This record gives sequence, structure tokens and C-alpha cells, in this order.
Amino acid sequence: LHIIQSIQELRMRLCPLRQAGKQIAIVPTMGYLHEGHLSLCRAARAENDIVVVTIFVNPTQFGPKEDFDRYPRDEKRDAELLERENVDIVFIPPVSDIYPQSHSTAITPPAQSQGWCGASRPGHFQGVCTVVSILFNLVQPDRGYFGEKDAQQLAVIRQMALDLHYPIEIIGCPIVREKDGLAMSSRNVYLSPEERRQSLILSKTLKQGLEKARSGCLNVSDIIKDGEKIIQSITGVQLDYLGIVDQNTFMTPERVSIGDVYLGAILVGKTRLIDNMKFRV
Ligand code: AMP
Repeated sequence: LHIIQSIQELRMRLCPLRQAGKQIAIVPTMGYLHEGHLSLCRAARAENDIVVVTIFVNPTQFGPKEDFDRYPRDEKRDAELLERENVDIVFIPPVSDIYPQSHSTAITPPAQSQGWCGASRPGHFQGVCTVVSILFNLVQPDRGYFGEKDAQQLAVIRQMALDLHYPIEIIGCPIVREKDGLAMSSRNVYLSPEERRQSLILSKTLKQGLEKARSGCLNVSDIIKDGEKIIQSITGVQLDYLGIVDQNTFMTPERVSIGDVYLGAILVGKTRLIDNMKFRV
């Protein structure tokens, strides 16, 4: 595992590999790695010659009142985990190298960024698109690996890669969950034992929505009304949104079809958690 901090060194290492025709994968992360991240690394490892993981807590995707300063970090442990997964390069640039003082260009995110997390977190997807676009330019990968955990981000990145003609295949990887159903997230460390129990309501609600559809109720607003009732009945949990969308356009249909995504965001204490599940039958 090569731990690289400078853009110049990253370019120097990747250039000959690219010229030799090696297939390069990028796995963008904000670090504090868990099994969800590692599943992306394994998918990338299986399908490419060179795996580049980036660790960058991107300030431009956090709102002014969000958790940028307290976002968990542990680069030493992250490097040990990546070494075990046979990752070739971990790129951990300083913020001032990615965004020098003069930096002022940003990517306007595509239509999929409207609503949901885009509504609750103004500027978030512009920050995501801008940093992912910078990382794509630096690494020039053949494939990019993203988790379905961030379903809206995945749809946004897919559209951005199309619109900007990036010659990069965007690959979505399934959500990795704890045994009790909670979607893994670096932010789960914020949860107190009580909040950790309360947080289960999100995956349970989504699962019940999928079951309702399976039993024949395909009406989107009925499924969501049920879900809202369940979440609003839990004290200590605040509902941000529940929605059902087409996985590519992120528009809401009237009736559920296979492949649509049931997504939600809640606040448990001060911790914001997101999750989603796909309607399959
Ligand atoms: P983050 O470090 O939270 O920005 O996440 C980096 C990448 O890992 C994103 O593509 C996420 O969607 C993905 N990811 C995060 N948590 C999970 C999970 N539980 N299962 C699968 N992928 C995940």
C-alpha cells in the first residue's frame, strides 16, 4: 500500500501504470472505514489492476452547521484496513491542496440532486460533484465504485459522469448492514446506546414498506403515510424525509415499480442517518 498525500506524487505513480494499459479503479471515501467501504474496495480489487482509495473529508459538502469539524478520523487504522484488502494506493490529500486559496470553480449538480438530501442539505451535492470531479481528473480511473447506501449521490454521480463525458464506468455496490439491519456508516459512532436502538426504526420502516408493496399495495403515498406514522411514533427520533423514487431519475412515481427506491433520512439526537431499500418484486 502506497500512502500518498501529494497530487504530484499521485500523478507520477499513476502515469506509467495508465500507459502500460493497467485498469484503474477509484473508491472515493471520507475515511473512518467500515465494512461498507471495504466491500467497495473488494469489488474494485476483483475487477481492476490498480485500486486507488481516496480519503478526503470534503469541507464543501458539509453545511455550516454540520459535523465537518467533528467528523471521525483515523487514518492509521484506515491504512491498516486497506493494506489487508490489497489496495494499491491510498490518496489522502490536505484540504489546501484540493482547494487552494484561489479555488472558485464548482460543478452544478444534475436534476437528481433536487429534493431529499438535496433539500435538507443545501450545497451538499454541489460539493460532492465538485470533489468527485476533481478526484476523477486526478486519478483518471476506468471505474468508480460508490455505495448504494448513498442512493441519491450514486444517481447524481452517474448523471454527472454522463453529462461531463467522463470515460468512467460508475459501479454501485449493495448496502452493507449491521446484523440488526442498521446500515453501516462512519456516523454511527456518534450514537449513544439508546440512540443506537432508536436508529433501527429507519431500516424497519423501509422494510415494512417493501413488505406492503409485496402484499399488493403499490400506492406510493399510502406506503409513505404508513412509514411516517411509524417513525413519528418514536420519541427522540425526528423524521427528515421518506420518499419513493425511480432509481435513475429520482422522480417520484404514483405507483411502485421494480427497481424503485424507498429512501429515508432521520435525526436521532443530533445524528443524521440515511438509508434506502429497493423494491425487487
Ligand atoms: P463516505 O465515507 O461515507 O463518504 O462513503 C464513501 C463511499 O462508501 C460512498 O460511495 C458510500 O456510499 C459508500 N458506503 C458508505 N456506507 C456504506 C454501506 N453501509 N454499504 C455500502 N457502501 C457504503
